[in-house]
Amino acid sequence: GGTGTASTIRQVKLEKESELRIEVANDTPLRLRLLNGTAEIFGTELPPQIWLTFPPHFKFAVFTWYGATIEMDGTTETDYTADETPMVSYVNVHAVLDGRRNQAKASPESSQGPRVIVVGPTDSGKSTLSRMLLSWAAKQGWKPTFVDLDIGQGSITAPGCIAATPIELPIDPVEGISLEMPLVYFYGHTTPSQNVDLYKALVKELAQILERQFTGNAESRASGMVINTMGWIEGVGYELILHAIDTFNANVVLVLGQEKLFSMLRDVLKSKPNVDVLKLQKSGGVVSRSSKFRQKSRSYRIREYFYGIANDLSPHSNIANFSDLFVYRIGGGPQAPRSALPIGADPVANPLRVAPVNIDRDLLHVVLAVSYAQEPDQIVSSNVAGFIYVTDIDLQRRKITYLSPTAGELPSKYLVMGTLTWLET
Ligand code: ATP
Repeated sequence: GGTGTASTIRQVKLEKESELRIEVANDTPLRLRLLNGTAEIFGTELPPQIWLTFPPHFKFAVFTWYGATIEMDGTTETDYTADETPMVSYVNVHAVLDGRRNQAKASPESSQGPRVIVVGPTDSGKSTLSRMLLSWAAKQGWKPTFVDLDIGQGSITAPGCIAATPIELPIDPVEGISLEMPLVYFYGHTTPSQNVDLYKALVKELAQILERQFTGNAESRASGMVINTMGWIEGVGYELILHAIDTFNANVVLVLGQEKLFSMLRDVLKSKPNVDVLKLQKSGGVVSRSSKFRQKSRSYRIREYFYGIANDLSPHSNIANFSDLFVYRIGGGPQAPRSALPIGADPVANPLRVAPVNIDRDLLHVVLAVSYAQEPDQIVSSNVAGFIYVTDIDLQRRKITYLSPTAGELPSKYLVMGTLTWLET
């Protein structure tokens, strides 16, 4: 239940092991601070006394282990305290993982720390649990790797990507994950069914690169990984969960909020004695989001990529000749023309085929990834440097205007196009 829209400064006293759940108003930000005691937001401790500003629509909880007083300034959509949370079970998982990290660090033979994968339906709190596990680990000095396989609501970079990044500090409750140098692969769509084979191929590429990095880095190997997944758990979605477990050699599977998925995974993973499958309760605080809201937050993520979370970045508008840029699309078209096939055979679409795209008005408002590929045939196996956004196509002068986070030349002339678009508002 909500408590409406009071706009004065007010205080909330939290008993131990309870949380204040907040949805910020739709049009104004909310200021909040910890007055006394200790409290955390999704695993990251709040600094005492310092006002934090949360943007409109933000949904979060301030949890306290030992009791705290919180002060709020501004309106909320809802705010209420809850004393029933699954936090104790979550922190127990953290303790087990921490034990395994210590073991890994101490033993030269099995120096691999826990590889945790978080699975469950949409709105079960997967991203939030991943975040807590990462922040608690970072607080203890580990450098776990965060892998986000969620192409719809990922938290590392723009939508349509899978990505990984080391977490060296507890995650900032407002800013989210700080982007030093994430390893990003561009899938280009926000649902995996668009091109399942491409999705799998990219997951494999990402896993291979991480594996290579771990070989040379005992600290991150012992710290392990936390892998966040999509909420698609039926049919092909289930197959993709198994594929991810396998590809990353996950050894701890955390199933949130679904008995059926838990029992399916437990049965199918019985044959792998080194994989633990654990069932965890979904928090009552997790907010369900409509597909319209998801669409909006994807658009917001793209805006954030170019302009920053608090409008603190200023992207550059650049102009290039059509002939300077090479745009490619992955998958789709047939492998060979019908005329080249035996009579009666259907041309089969090759999901990993890389095909050039003509620059025309269709590129307007498209988000393109800037590939690190040196040659077009390396596009599927290459990660991306970042994104540009096409704001104008001048067919007469054969010029393309685009927004880029930086001025000057792009790190590569190979651009990848999917179905990701954005309308700047
Ligand atoms: P998806 O499958 O769509 O990625 P998810 O399972 O990862 O969803 P989350 O993103 O973790 O779900 O949570 C959904 C929303 O609920 C988020 O906005 C998150 O901040 C909010 N939320 C999670 N836990 C709580 C809580 N205890 N109190 C208040 N809000 C919460």
